[in-house]
Amino acid sequence: MAKYKLEYIWLDGYTPVANLRGKSQIKEYASFPTLEDLPLWGFDGSSTQQAPGRSSDCVLKPVAVYPDSARNNGVLVMCEVLNADGTPHVSNARATIIDDEGAWFGFEQEYFFWQDGRPLGFPEDGYPAPQGPYYTGVGYKNVGSVAREIVEEHLELCLAAGINHEGINAEVAKGQWEFQIFGKGSKKCADDVWMARYLLLRLCEKYGIDINWHCKPLGMDLDWNGSGMHANFSTTYLRESGGKEYFEKLMGAFEKYVGEHIAVYGPDNHMRLTGLHETQAIDKFSYGVADRGASIRVPHSFVNNGYKGYLEDRRPNSQGDPYQIASRILKTIASVPTA
Ligand code: ADP
Ligand code: MN
Ligand code: MN
Ligand code: MN
Repeated sequence: MAKYKLEYIWLDGYTPVANLRGKSQIKEYASFPTLEDLPLWGFDGSSTQQAPGRSSDCVLKPVAVYPDSARNNGVLVMCEVLNADGTPHVSNARATIIDDEGAWFGFEQEYFFWQDGRPLGFPEDGYPAPQGPYYTGVGYKNVGSVAREIVEEHLELCLAAGINHEGINAEVAKGQWEFQIFGKGSKKCADDVWMARYLLLRLCEKYGIDINWHCKPLGMDLDWNGSGMHANFSTTYLRESGGKEYFEKLMGAFEKYVGEHIAVYGPDNHMRLTGLHETQAIDKFSYGVADRGASIRVPHSFVNNGYKGYLEDRRPNSQGDPYQIASRILKTIASVPTA
């Protein structure tokens, strides 16, 4: 038997953006615990905006398990929050979303490293040189001295956890970076995105750096890019059958439900979806081949393969909840009959 450190992680009840919370319990197992080995647990919901003080108990239900390479015998346990009677808590979007193992998602999470109230690498007064050299840049003047160390360490933590971290790049603004997470099924992929966010936040503690997930942390009046979380998606039908006619019907449905999509694509998105900085305006819908100013970008490969493959919805922002984003995309897809 060995003692395992179980970190139970959940989303709190803050709106419009939930925060990650976590607490540890130590338990003995003969080998690395599976989901079935992990007990329900509880927490004080009155401290997380999930319950009134007089009746404060909320339940943590383990739903995904990951090895935690930062700790000896460490286990990361993604949890859903339940009410005391076992029903899903109102803050628990995961419990109610549409899922489909044939639906694959790739989220491109952008964010800013943040220190002393400004992006990492910004001078105390004023601004660094304008955007241009930072995107995919190299060298101290472009990326500073610690950002790359952090993103590399984050990559290792994610891979060790079994998360499908698929890549890294320095982004357009100074101090801004991106990582990509791929997963099959909306729950699986979204669990991995939340866990990758958790690992990044936790890792940054020892550097005295925070992550600013806001989609436009420098405001909308300056010429600094915002942060998105492009959602690349495909279904079995899109990958294997597709076709121009189906694709055009699908885009019609995305246009019809533009309001429903924007509602779950992250707060303050009007600040980011302006039609500038590689975005489409928030009230418009468009799609285009290789068009980074469209709502949905259609990769060249999609058209070349006879309208088969994946599409990129560029509208979700960096603070969006991947559970709700993936579910909304599947709901719109489900509204379109397949041949
Ligand atoms: P870009 O920055 O050019 O928009 P990235 O390389 O950052 O593109 O992200 C592309 C994303 O698309 C990756 O997360 C990848 O996992 C995802 N992806 C690739 N193929 C598929 C597919 N068939 N279904 C869903 N997502 C996919
Ligand atoms: Mn990208
Ligand atoms: Mn990007
Ligand atoms: Mn993209």
